[in-house]
Amino acid sequence: MNKYIESVLKDVKAKNANEPEFLQAVDEVLTTLSPVIDANKAYQQEAILERMVEPERVIMFRVPWVDDKGNVRVNRGYRIQMNSAIGPYKGGLRFDPSVNLSVLKFLAFEQVFKNSLTTLPMGGGKGGSDFNPKQSPHTPGKRCSDREVMRFCQSFMTELYRHIGPDTDVPAGDMNVGGREIGYLFGQYKRLVNEWTGVLTGKGLSYGGSLIRPEATGYGDVYFAENMLAMRGETFEGKKCVISGAGNVATYAAEKLMQLGAKVLTLSDRSGAIYCKDGLTEKMLKDIMVLKTVTRGELADFAKKTKAVKFFMGANSWQIADQIDCAFPCARQNELDGKDAAYLLKHGCTLVGEGANMPSTPDAIEAFVKAKIMYSPGKASNAGGVATSGLEMSQNSERLSWTSEEVDKKLKGIMKAIHDNAWAAAEKYGHKGNYVMGANIAGFTKVADAMLAQGIA
Ligand code: NDP
Repeated sequence: MNKYIESVLKDVKAKNANEPEFLQAVDEVLTTLSPVIDANKAYQQEAILERMVEPERVIMFRVPWVDDKGNVRVNRGYRIQMNSAIGPYKGGLRFDPSVNLSVLKFLAFEQVFKNSLTTLPMGGGKGGSDFNPKQSPHTPGKRCSDREVMRFCQSFMTELYRHIGPDTDVPAGDMNVGGREIGYLFGQYKRLVNEWTGVLTGKGLSYGGSLIRPEATGYGDVYFAENMLAMRGETFEGKKCVISGAGNVATYAAEKLMQLGAKVLTLSDRSGAIYCKDGLTEKMLKDIMVLKTVTRGELADFAKKTKAVKFFMGANSWQIADQIDCAFPCARQNELDGKDAAYLLKHGCTLVGEGANMPSTPDAIEAFVKAKIMYSPGKASNAGGVATSGLEMSQNSERLSWTSEEVDKKLKGIMKAIHDNAWAAAEKYGHKGNYVMGANIAGFTKVADAMLAQGIA
């Protein structure tokens, strides 16, 4: 490895010793950049890597709110403004008890490269809170009520609003932040600044949202995979696919795969995994979408009512089916490890398309790259969500609404461009077919060159 990269990695590890997820993400990117760092000495002279691993700004704040029983609750809120070299900070908000500085810094770091890959002018950021909408603070086993979620969102925005804006930082949804939360956050922002602007994306259609934004990450993941298959003259027709997660990304990836003639064998959530030998039907998938977004239940409940599926309590999706063509990790970070990777490869898997951020552990990635299967890292293949957020920003600025067909066509075009750029960068630096190298190098170069042009900042 290039000596400059080695020394930056050493410093990052010393400075951020308590941030394992952030260190993992930095390591994964920096260790692939040797060819491009060797080829351009200015990156070292101008300390580009040292600057890229340091957020431009970290905002951490108190979020006090009152639950339905009148008790005062306090959560911690964050916004990481990582890099604005190529556009306003852009990236989602995550509400989950697992949220901490390390997780959000890893997500913000990934977002910088992902946004660069989309070809749109967006910098990278991420935020959220350790608030858990899935667990009421006063009644075990119950979720927070809509009113509690609203009061939390209003309090969260009462601090966040002063740090964001349509030309400064434009947050969106992520885990546990969907249409309901974005609505409450937007409503509070509008009251505070007395301005209607596209300050959040993922908005409802009645107030500036874009068609296809909810579908975009899952659909985009599948479009990216379609491009990988096309390089080998294959299509999805008849392919057996396993998917993890049952949230936004997973369910829309499943929908698109089914439309393209693939069989979706598994989905999973915190309760466990469901397996349907002959592939889920459209009706089953619709029921799961309603379960997750309206009645807000678990796959365990769905499995009880559906004879055609088997339920594996507490399991993930990887080691269930005995014939697998493609795998789509769409739940969370580090959900697919070396053992899962070995199982997938042994059972025929030749394509892994990451929908989640950093779902594969380093040893799983190593196994996929070594086996030379079609493996796309999340920062490339899940970029369809933020790309469509970029399209929502354009529509808001122009006060226009594009049709589903227009947005879907643009999304397909962007996913192809990301695929082709990653492919070309990998080939240029002697690693043909390695999408990890390709995505990292292509994403890095654009941001690094913009930073060089803007001086020491
Ligand atoms: P959702 O909250 O809609 O879905 C997440 C899914 O993962 C849920 O089914 C959830 O289970 C499951 N899950 C979460 N934690 C665990 C756990 N510890 N064990 C088992 N299952 C778990 O989130 P999204 O679909 O929006 O996001 C999924 C991933 O995709 C994340 O990594 C996110 O950062 C990434 N991503 C999302 C984008 C978007 O546009 N939404 C854009 C780009 C990336 P349960 O239903 O039981 O909670």
